[in-house]
Amino acid sequence: MRAATVLFAAVWGLLFGSFLNCTAMRIVRGEDWVRARSRCPKCGHTLGAEELIPVISFLFLRGKCRSCGEKISLRYPVTEIVFGVLCALMMLRFGISVMLLRSFVFACCLFVLTLTDIEARLIPNGCLLIALVTWFVTLPWLFAGWRDFGTHIVAMIGFSVAILCLSLIMDLILKKDSLGGGDVKLIAVIALYLGVIGTMFMLIIASLLGIGFAVVNGKFRRGTAIAFGPFLSAAGLLMALYGEPLVAWYVSFL
Ligand SMILES: [Zn+2]
Repeated sequence: MRAATVLFAAVWGLLFGSFLNCTAMRIVRGEDWVRARSRCPKCGHTLGAEELIPVISFLFLRGKCRSCGEKISLRYPVTEIVFGVLCALMMLRFGISVMLLRSFVFACCLFVLTLTDIEARLIPNGCLLIALVTWFVTLPWLFAGWRDFGTHIVAMIGFSVAILCLSLIMDLILKKDSLGGGDVKLIAVIALYLGVIGTMFMLIIASLLGIGFAVVNGKFRRGTAIAFGPFLSAAGLLMALYGEPLVAWYVSFL
């Protein structure tokens, strides 16, 4: 039974990952993302249903458009697989529950803004708003006392104000934008989901990921700005899924 639900979540994730990837691309290109049909970006060939099956279509078409032979970007199967795995992990962690629903919407929002941030340094307000509203809408089922509620609200306001001040000071010192406004809003929303301690861990993990990526890519030396949203999102999802055992494991060393 458990294996069946996890498998279902993985397949659901593949399909939804495909939809979210297209949504992200349409947001960047300013297209209507509800009604628009999927097309080949090279020749405009409208994709039929059999060409829209996640991963399988890609393998079946050997990564090429059926109409013009243009190579299909690896972005499609990669994003689908990543989101499929993510959904399977969420099902394993939370089972069928309101927490699963909340985490799923949170993951969808972070996934889309990660893709738009990588492609166009854009963090859509819509994604942040949906995540924010979802947290409050699911609250009646997940309410764990006023004290717990307070730590989440304090985390959202406290971290965003602190980081906004810090980035403004950095801007003055470095005389350039250190952190985008989108990043600050993103931190606020993730902090609402994680609470105070979870957000502290999230920021440390995101910074390590960002620095690690910059060093590997050699961007640190050249001083090129990198999109921070993907690292915040990855760390936020990691903490949303495994924050409790991770914090407990860390505390056991103290
Ligand atoms: Zn084509």
